[in-house]
Amino acid sequence: MTAAKILIYDTTLRDGTQGEQINFTAEEKLRIAQRLDESGFHYIEGGWPGSNPKDMRFFDLAKAKSFKHARMAAFGSTRRPHIKPADCPNLQALLAAATPVVTIFGKSWDLHVHEVLQISLEENLAMVGDSVAFLKSRGKEVIFDAEHFFDGYKHNASCALQVLDRAVTAGAAMIVLCDTNGGTMPHEITEIVSHVATLIPPQRLGIHAHNDGGVAVANSLAAAQTGVRMIQGTVNGFGERCGNANLITIICNLQLKMGKQCLTEAQLKQLSNLAHYVSDVANIPPVPYSPFVGRSAFAHKGGVHVSAVAKNASAYEHIRPELVGNQQRVLVSDLAGKSNITYKAREMGIDLGADVLISGKIVNAIKKMEDEGYQFDAAEGSLSLLIKKATGEFRDPFVLESFQVINSKTDDRPSQCQATVKISVGAEEELTAAEGNGPINALDHALRKALRRFYPRIVEMHLVDFKVRIIEGSEGTAAKVRVLLDSRDDHDFWSTIGVSANVIDASWHALVDSFQYKLSKDKLDQHSSTKRSSKTVQ
Ligand SMILES: [Zn+2]
Repeated sequence: MTAAKILIYDTTLRDGTQGEQINFTAEEKLRIAQRLDESGFHYIEGGWPGSNPKDMRFFDLAKAKSFKHARMAAFGSTRRPHIKPADCPNLQALLAAATPVVTIFGKSWDLHVHEVLQISLEENLAMVGDSVAFLKSRGKEVIFDAEHFFDGYKHNASCALQVLDRAVTAGAAMIVLCDTNGGTMPHEITEIVSHVATLIPPQRLGIHAHNDGGVAVANSLAAAQTGVRMIQGTVNGFGERCGNANLITIICNLQLKMGKQCLTEAQLKQLSNLAHYVSDVANIPPVPYSPFVGRSAFAHKGGVHVSAVAKNASAYEHIRPELVGNQQRVLVSDLAGKSNITYKAREMGIDLGADVLISGKIVNAIKKMEDEGYQFDAAEGSLSLLIKKATGEFRDPFVLESFQVINSKTDDRPSQCQATVKISVGAEEELTAAEGNGPINALDHALRKALRRFYPRIVEMHLVDFKVRIIEGSEGTAAKVRVLLDSRDDHDFWSTIGVSANVIDASWHALVDSFQYKLSKDKLDQHSSTKRSSKTVQ
């Protein structure tokens, strides 16, 4: 008999939005909900309809959608003290959300009952029991979140357990033990959950952990190991203070390390995409060192490591990155050896073969440039050009004759920039001028305009991010500026770099690399499509 699936309950759209800087519109929430559903998550907590009109609007939008895998949950508190459930506006708002599942939280720590709510323990138990029974009588699947359960258990176990018992008796489908303050340790979770599981079947138990001790994932896994069925958390661990348990890490560990099934293999492969998607919508840059799905999770930099993974990836990788939709990467830096360069070149479709001279030349060039302030592990576009230039595979598609930038400012109006660029392509020259809201923007417009006549596909690319960093000068040398540009077209994303004592000069280098990268990539596309079509003719 196979063990029952662990149920993944996502609260990114509710608890996740309590994190600093995390805000979603109702429409964004709906898009995320659809992605969570496609990823095979079992429950999606959409919001707290009693707390704000935006969440109510989300539930209105969600009503019109059908979800393939996930059951939608509305979240709220138990009834207010000393009133009937039917008269409680909180419970009425939960019903109005019209979701199949309702999750309510109640107090399970006597400190909160006495000092925060200032009511008797009996009234608290009645609030839990009445609210669960009322929602159940309206046809809802009721999930009961026992807030502060672990702290409550440590202070007054019998009081905390009575709260759970009341929710079970009233008909809650699942009882979720919450580490609301996030300070419980994994060994305590094991001990306490094991005891609770002797009183309530673990198939009806869940865990909701916060990350204040940095162990929310470990706590969730410890609870799963003792048999709980449901795990609550958020994508990327978004949430108040130090965040909630990161569901992405949890799912990967459950499935790949602990033999507990949550998603299908195909859904597991979507997790890297999902994590980045949610970061994008939240407008929070993805954390590169996120376990399993981060861009650096399978990135190798040291030469010894790279030559080892080239022989056998498991030498420095705990799982195969493809299982979670990630990929192995090799970074190139002054730590790198020739094996990194050979690997990188192969990745770019360039075979350096046995030519140790060329790879040695490239390594030396990289070391020298990194000494000047370049950093190629963050600028793979520039690195690819450097390798192609060293192998003679790339020739400059244009030559810069001159450029000029003028910045003008009048009164308190925003300053305006004008750039003039003169380039030559073969025997032809082109001189263009353009405006922009800053020097780089103006140069980008002018260079784009100049190149359009020769390379029409240049309009497909856009600059998406621009980062400037001051690199401290060593003794006797001036400080320099490092500019990193991120660009994209419909198919790819690439980063380029420029370094100089002058910010405009550094930006220009990064800009030219970005355009050259696009042009060299298009040339490759063209070649492969010509090859493809000539094959078809044959
Ligand atoms: Zn929480």
